Amino acid sequence: MKKAKIETIRHSLSHIMAHAVQDLFPKIKFGMGPAIENGFYYDFEFPQNISISDLPRIEKRMKHIIKRNISFKKRKLEKKEITKLFRNQPYKKELIKDLPKNTASFYESGNFIDLCKGPHVKSTKEIDLTAFKLTRTAGAYWKGSEKNPMLTRIYGVAFKTKKELTDYLSKLEEAKKRDHRLIGKQLELYAIYPEIGAGLPVWLPKGYRMRRILEDYMIKLERKYGYEHILTPHIGKDTLFKTSGHLDFYKESMYSPVEIDKETYYLKPMNCPMAIIVYKGNLHSYRELPIKMGEFGTVYRYEKSGELSGLSRVRGFTQNDAHIFCTPEQLMTQFIEVFKMLKIFYRDLGFTNYKFRLGLGDPKKEKFKYCGSKKDWNHAEETIKKALEKTGADYYEAVGEAAFYGPKLDVQAIDTLGREESISTIQIDFNLPEKFDMNYVGPNGKKQRPYVIHRALIGSFERFFAFLIEYYKGNFPLWLTPEQVWIIPISPKNKKYCKEIYQKLLENNFRVKIKDESESLSKKIRTGQLQKIPYLLIVGDKEMKTKSVSPRFRGKDLGQIKLTAFIKRLTIEIEKKK
Ligand SMILES: [Zn+2]
Ligand SMILES: [Zn+2]
Repeated sequence: MKKAKIETIRHSLSHIMAHAVQDLFPKIKFGMGPAIENGFYYDFEFPQNISISDLPRIEKRMKHIIKRNISFKKRKLEKKEITKLFRNQPYKKELIKDLPKNTASFYESGNFIDLCKGPHVKSTKEIDLTAFKLTRTAGAYWKGSEKNPMLTRIYGVAFKTKKELTDYLSKLEEAKKRDHRLIGKQLELYAIYPEIGAGLPVWLPKGYRMRRILEDYMIKLERKYGYEHILTPHIGKDTLFKTSGHLDFYKESMYSPVEIDKETYYLKPMNCPMAIIVYKGNLHSYRELPIKMGEFGTVYRYEKSGELSGLSRVRGFTQNDAHIFCTPEQLMTQFIEVFKMLKIFYRDLGFTNYKFRLGLGDPKKEKFKYCGSKKDWNHAEETIKKALEKTGADYYEAVGEAAFYGPKLDVQAIDTLGREESISTIQIDFNLPEKFDMNYVGPNGKKQRPYVIHRALIGSFERFFAFLIEYYKGNFPLWLTPEQVWIIPISPKNKKYCKEIYQKLLENNFRVKIKDESESLSKKIRTGQLQKIPYLLIVGDKEMKTKSVSPRFRGKDLGQIKLTAFIKRLTIEIEKKK
């Protein structure tokens, strides 16, 4: 028999799971249940509380149903008739009401029916009994809106073979251990307080220390390439966002306005309009271009509460933003320069595996869908491709993935589990220069339109940190790590020498701490390892006598070395950003 597509199997399994739940909990109310990446889910309103411990029972029932070799049959009826079939199902009735046509299709598999367009497996024997698993439950608002009741979502994963499932589950296990929400808490890097607000993370001392190190690093790198930095306010007048078009095209991501002295202000969802106002504050000659204006700008964008997650999905975040204002002729050199910076940045962060995704316009839609002229688009797209080829970057084209205002290049970093994360972005904008009537004086003395390039290397600090934590599992490179060295005296009489080491390390700008609490030595070492401190110096009489240290580097004993040699080792490790 021809095997069904995996998406079809996943989708069919969501029906079978709902079927099993119906068998076990006859008073169940059904929400929706689609196939998703790697699996499927279904939302239910249970008559009682259920938890992950109920999943094996449901899974067992699913296997029982699959073994009965049930077939899926499509049926079509008038809405009125279908509503009768779903008499006790308020959520399904709501969905039926919203259907555009008067007739609709639904599927029957055994004694279970579901509103659905399909496709499904012909019969359950196409599903491998050993290649799926129910994994977890979660709360999910009906239709994703917090105004609606909270349902219980059950997630499952499914593959074509048992091996694929086992591989996936072991990756999942590893991903759990790397979860930035877990490590972020364990290492006290950031916190989210309900008293402050959902999706509004607070950087705790250690996390903020790391962030400052990265900020300083980035400012230095950008200044080296001729960037100047500005800092604009968090709110701005409505007229600004009217001009930019955000209130027309981006309003659903913006928060309600505030009124100040009878004028309306919005939290900024993007930094660009304010950077452009700064550009327009002076008349510019072609001789001054390119102007590279950097900003660690904090923006606020609405995310549904159910979609918020740690540092990766938040409602306010700070971008490593910059706007490059240049002439069309400068586009190529500017792109190549940003690549150079990207390469340095990724190398220093230890990201070895990444690829470029070039989002191009869809030529079929070109007419009215995009801002800017066809000529400008062609020029920009050709220039980016040439620049990519010149730098030898590995890229792939995604036709139709451009922004409406211009082509864009995203950098996807890939972690050890093979997961991709969009980190950096470079985008050309043909919209804002028109909207804000931006100009520069050309060589002929006439006003001309500059190009605007939006560029973010770190992307947002919040999302970047989520990636960084998971990438390194909290074992950050020495130059980034918030605490580099802990000094642990074996007995009180070693304290004086510990102080000496501390002073020396401090003078050399290392981030160091003495652990002289009255805890046992082994406990301190254990805590140090849990806190992922790269170097633990255990100091006793032997070290004191010889003015040396015995470092443990991430759990490995390095033996006794002179303090001066240790300082040298650290200095090199930090300089080389190992
Ligand atoms: Zn279906
Ligand atoms: Zn921008």
